[in-house]
Formats: sequence, structure tokens, C-alpha cells
Amino acid sequence: MSAQQPLDVVIVGAGFGGIGAAIQFKQLGYHNIAILERENDLGGVWHVNRYPGLAVDLPSPTYSFDFEPNPYWSRLYAPGAEIKQYAEHVADKYDVRRHMRFDTKVENARWDEEDKVWRVAIAGGDTVTARFLIAATGFMSQACYPNIPGVAEFAGKVIHTTAWDDSYDLRGRRVAIIGTGATAVQVIPELAKKAAELSVYQRTPIHVVPKQDFAIPTAVQRLFARVPVVQRLFRLMTDVQASVVFLPAIKFRQLRFLVNFTAVIAGMQRFAAIRDKKLRQELTPHYDFGCKRPTYSNEYYKTFTQPHVHLRTAGIERIEPDAIVTADGARTEIDTLILATGFDMWESNFPAIEIIGRDGRNLGKWWRTHGFQAYQGMTVPYFPNYLGLAAGPYANSGLSFFNMVKYQSRHIDRLFTELRRRNATTFEVTEQANTEFRERMERLQEGTLLHLGDCASSRSYYFGPNGETVLRPTTPRAALREQETFPLSNYTFA
Ligand code: NAP
Repeated sequence: MSAQQPLDVVIVGAGFGGIGAAIQFKQLGYHNIAILERENDLGGVWHVNRYPGLAVDLPSPTYSFDFEPNPYWSRLYAPGAEIKQYAEHVADKYDVRRHMRFDTKVENARWDEEDKVWRVAIAGGDTVTARFLIAATGFMSQACYPNIPGVAEFAGKVIHTTAWDDSYDLRGRRVAIIGTGATAVQVIPELAKKAAELSVYQRTPIHVVPKQDFAIPTAVQRLFARVPVVQRLFRLMTDVQASVVFLPAIKFRQLRFLVNFTAVIAGMQRFAAIRDKKLRQELTPHYDFGCKRPTYSNEYYKTFTQPHVHLRTAGIERIEPDAIVTADGARTEIDTLILATGFDMWESNFPAIEIIGRDGRNLGKWWRTHGFQAYQGMTVPYFPNYLGLAAGPYANSGLSFFNMVKYQSRHIDRLFTELRRRNATTFEVTEQANTEFRERMERLQEGTLLHLGDCASSRSYYFGPNGETVLRPTTPRAALREQETFPLSNYTFA
């Protein structure tokens, strides 16, 4: 890698965001691309996460690039391994794998105002130089390890769900799992099938609604492959279905009854699965449905009725080398500790790498003093030729990741077409456009579930340390429409 010959584009992250960006930049005519990935393979969260029970939590047709539908999903909610295969298929078909450099951890990226390039420092001392910097690092790239007293002294096996040890046999083990988020909802029923004893340490209960999942027959898969329009129609249905679940959060003022209705469905599922009233109450959330990312399972609640599965709600006081002690004095001996404690969203994710823009402005520090903000979730004043993809403030409306990919790629299309039309070297969003966008998002937030709903006890990662939220409070259609019409004068070109 030579600092003398800048690349066109450097993309950080080889997940779906990075793969999609590489395909688009090649189509825009930029072929000198490097995709830097700290893991040893592509796929992002779908490479890192391999825990038992892993599956997509949106209908699979909706969870895919719209330019590359996959007719061969085996189920409506495909298992994780299939999503990873799909990522590999797309990367190979569009020939972007050859641009990927694995085991390459980016330390920081610095804008060089004189040469108008980004200098990207890689762990080990190497530097890559490129005209454009694309951060496609995702929301879920930094695992969260709980800071519970004694956790480091635990003498048994510790597995974080983002680093599953396939070789470890859970059969006959006394297992504890900390966390009851979306990951735990998937993994707990699987752990219960093998463990001799399973203790689930819950701090905040979660709403779980039934999952309408089914196998897609091979004949239907063949039909999708032969007659793509049929699959398009099917996707339209799953897109609508996914929107119906998420829309009430954005349009809470108007659709509050739907949020309440969904909570009732989750309550009915609890009632049908669990006869023990105390257990049911312990599993009942006291915040509105949607304050946290909704979860789906037909097994989760039932699992707690098995005699070897124990819900522990007293709060963990400390971990000893062979046990967990809770605030009520109960001591449970275990040999295996599963951490389903999720991701560090706010501390180390915004941004996931150190990014220094014009005049030495540090993106992470600036966000922390001036608030998290990015025009259309992507571009930031003082950061020329920089795009934060699918993980910036106000990028994500909480719906399918691929909705975000679609509207952001439309934005890139218009931006880069204009850049080339003007024969310019750099683009940068104006401070005014960024401020107006942020103020508009804040105003729209006021009508959403996160502002008007009862989210106080949810402990949701949708809220930052100061109670701020950065979900995009618009529908995917509105986000897409905006990319067709945003004034190009919102950018300066030089
Ligand atoms: P999460 O939603 O952040 O849940 C983490 C869990 O760990 C919570 O129950 C949390 O309790 C608990 N926890 C964290 N620190 C703790 C501590 N010190 N003591 C006790 N409990 C602690 O993380 P996640 O379940 O990994 O899910 C994250 C996101 O990943 C999801 O919202 C979803 O977007 C995505 N996901 C997607 C899929 C898929 O199929 N596509 C599957 C799984 C996950 P509190 O709630 O009390 O903080």
C-alpha cells in the first residue's frame, strides 16, 4: 500500500453496508477501492454472530438488497448462516471481494487538507490514502462486556454471544446467561435444550410477540427464481408487514392504539405459555412496546416453564469464581457464563473509529460536545469527502437495514453525479443544511413513541447517555423521496 498513490475510495467495514457501497462506487466508475475489515471474513454482524438460534428478525425478502433478491431463502425468517451466505454471494457476484483486506483494523482516519485526501492509519503502522472515506462500521460492532464485580475472576467458561465457541459442548452444564435482549430471546430456548440447569439473569423484561415464521417450500423458491416478479410481489408484502410493526413508533401520536395492541398480543402469548402468575409478572415489561427493538419468538416464554430453567430478577451483586450472587443473597453455582449483554452503542460506536476532519475537528469529540448529528445520517460539516453509512445519527428509522442502504445510495448517486458534473475534487455539507436537518429531525421526534411513550424503565439503547435519541423519525418512503429532492446547494463543491 503506497501513500503516494491515493485510492479512489476507502471503505471501513465489509458488512452489508460496505459491500453495498463498494458495488455502488464501482458502478459510479471508481474502481480503485479498498475495503478494510478487522475480522477475517466478510459479513459484519452476520460473520461475527454465530450463536445457536441466530436468525434475522425481519422477513428475509425485506432483509436483502433490492437489486439482488434471493429466491432461495429457506424460511421467512432465515437463519444467520444463510444471511452470511447471501453476503458472500453478493460480494462474489458483483466482484467486490477482491477489494477486501481482512484482519485489517483501522485505528483512525485523518483529512489532509493540503492534498485533499484521507489518510487512514491501520494497526501495525501501515497507512492507506484515499480521496473518499466511507465508514460502514454498523451500529453493532462493539461488543459490550458488563462491568459486574468479580466477572473477570470467574473460573469457568465465559462466552459473549458475539464470540460463540462452537467447540464448547453445553450438554450437562450449569449455565447462566446475563441479558434478556433480542439476542437472548433467540439463544435462551436453544441453551435450554442442552444445559442441565439454566439461570437467566434479567434486569429489564422485554416484549416478545409471536413469530409468524414458516419454511418456504422448494417449489416456491423455484418459482421465485423463474418468475422474479412473483418474488417482488412477495417482498412488497413483507415490506408492508415490517412497516406495520415499526410505523406506530414513528407515528405514535396517531397510532398509539397499535402500540398498545401489540403489547396486548405479547401479553396474550405470555398468558398462553405460563400458568405461574408470579413468573408471568416478572416477565412483563412496564414500558411501551417499541421503546426497545421489538423481538419475536414462539419459544421464549415457554422456555421458562421448564423445571431446569430459572428466571433470576433480583439483580446481580457479584460474580464469584464458581457462582453468581444476587442482591437477595441467593448464590447459584455455575460452570458456564453466557454474556448476552449486547453492544456498546454510544460510548464507542459514534463513530467506531477516530475520524479527524478539517481544522483538526475530531468527529467523536465534536458529537459529544455539540450533539450527535449528520445530514441525512451521512455527511457532516468539516468532514469533506466523508460518508458515514448506515450508522450515523438519524440514519436508521429502526426498520430494515436495507431501507437505509437504499435511500442512502440514492443520496450518493445524486451527490457524486453532481461532483463529477462540476469536475470538483471535494464535497462538504454546509453547516446550515446540517443544522436545519437536525432541527427538523428533532421536531419530528416530538411526535414519536420515544418522546411521547412511556419508555422510562426500558433501558433502551435507542436513548443516549443524556436521554437523546437519533433514530430517523420518518418513514422509509419519506426518506427515499427526500433523496430525490434535496437541494444540491446543501453541499459546497471545490
Ligand atoms: P441488547 O438489546 O442491548 O440487550 C442486552 C441485554 O443485556 C439487556 O437485557 C441488558 O439489560 C443486559 N445487560 C447489559 N449489561 C448488563 C449488566 N451489567 N447487568 C445485567 N444485565 C445487563 O443487546 P442484544 O440482545 O444483543 O441486541 C442488540 C440488537 O441487535 C437488537 O436490538 C437488534 O437490533 C440486534 N439483533 C438482531 C438480531 C436479528 O435477528 N437481526 C438478533 C439479535 C440482535 P437492560 O435491558 O436492563 O439494559
